[in-house]
Amino acid sequence: MEGIFAQKVLAGPQLEPMEDACVLVEDGTIQAIMTREEFQTSPCQGCETRELGNVTLMPGMIECHNHLALDARLPGHLEMMEESECVHTVLALKGLKDDLMSGVTTARCLGDRNYIDVELKRLIREGKVTGPNLLVCGIGMKARHGHGYVGMPHSGVEEFRRTARQNMFRGVDVLKIFVTPGAPVGPGEFIPCFLSYDEIRTVVEEAHAMNLPVAAHCIGGKGLDYCVQAGVDVIEHVYSITPEQVELVAREHKGWIDLTSGIVLDPDREPYISPSSAANLRRVRDYSRSCMAQVVQNRDIRWALGTDANHGLLYREAEFACQMGAAPREALMGLTSNAAKMCRIDQKTGSIQTGLQADLIAVEGDPLEDVSVLQRVSFVMKGGAVYQS
Ligand SMILES: [Zn+2]
Repeated sequence: MEGIFAQKVLAGPQLEPMEDACVLVEDGTIQAIMTREEFQTSPCQGCETRELGNVTLMPGMIECHNHLALDARLPGHLEMMEESECVHTVLALKGLKDDLMSGVTTARCLGDRNYIDVELKRLIREGKVTGPNLLVCGIGMKARHGHGYVGMPHSGVEEFRRTARQNMFRGVDVLKIFVTPGAPVGPGEFIPCFLSYDEIRTVVEEAHAMNLPVAAHCIGGKGLDYCVQAGVDVIEHVYSITPEQVELVAREHKGWIDLTSGIVLDPDREPYISPSSAANLRRVRDYSRSCMAQVVQNRDIRWALGTDANHGLLYREAEFACQMGAAPREALMGLTSNAAKMCRIDQKTGSIQTGLQADLIAVEGDPLEDVSVLQRVSFVMKGGAVYQS
């Protein structure tokens, strides 16, 4: 048993602050959370202790939208998806380490080639590779004529069904489809839908038959209506969602929205994409911000946050969520307890609760005051093992 002390501990799914408190960890699991005073009179008082000092101890972050071989910090990263499996693996190893050291203890991977996500998930679990615990989707399914650099082309319900079953045979956690283009559009502009309703519905039926969720890349348009109607569990991106669709999602969508706003809102990303893509983003950035802000501010919509392969930059997503109207606590929950619910792992991780995995990070400052302090992670524990201190 080890007692980890911090000036502040954010306990439970609601991240309730406890001053001068400790988290007791044994066998990789959280055994108890208590104040220093309680500790000193508890049966654990003789156990080993670790003093983290004037920091906030919080749950390890969950990156809800990652790709292993894709590294959005590299110029030409989208084209690099055509590189070899070897190159992809090398890139993945670096990204995984950067993610973990930045405080990400779980990452949901939404498309990589050659099942490297499935293999790396296993190697991480076996302790042979350093990285966050992974949730994986195997082969991302895009349309023959559609978008999705990380996906593989499909056409017709039987092709989607075959890959869905092959992915599930390989032991994936989620199925991923690419419904629309990637680039956001301006108000009233047309958004193609590459998958038919039947193709989307087929993947949903196959996944649900095995009690797995479906995540759909979808920026808006007819494809978004199809996703809601077909019972897709998580709709990714929604850069160009309309007010009517926000109402539709609030009313009828039983699942979650996964926001990846940095891709659009972060001007620092422009050097890493083509000049024409950067010009498009500048053109539609304000409109796209207003679209996503409606999601963040709608009380009937559940959302969480991911970077879409901006390794180490998950804290930026919390900053953008706050700029769009989220309270710091909501933004933090979008990276921890709500992210865990969306990923269906809240019985294992995502909050500091007795019985959950000891996935803990410490940040300098109070993230409930200012989420930007998440960029200064001084301690990382995953499953009771310390990776940074
Ligand atoms: Zn993605």
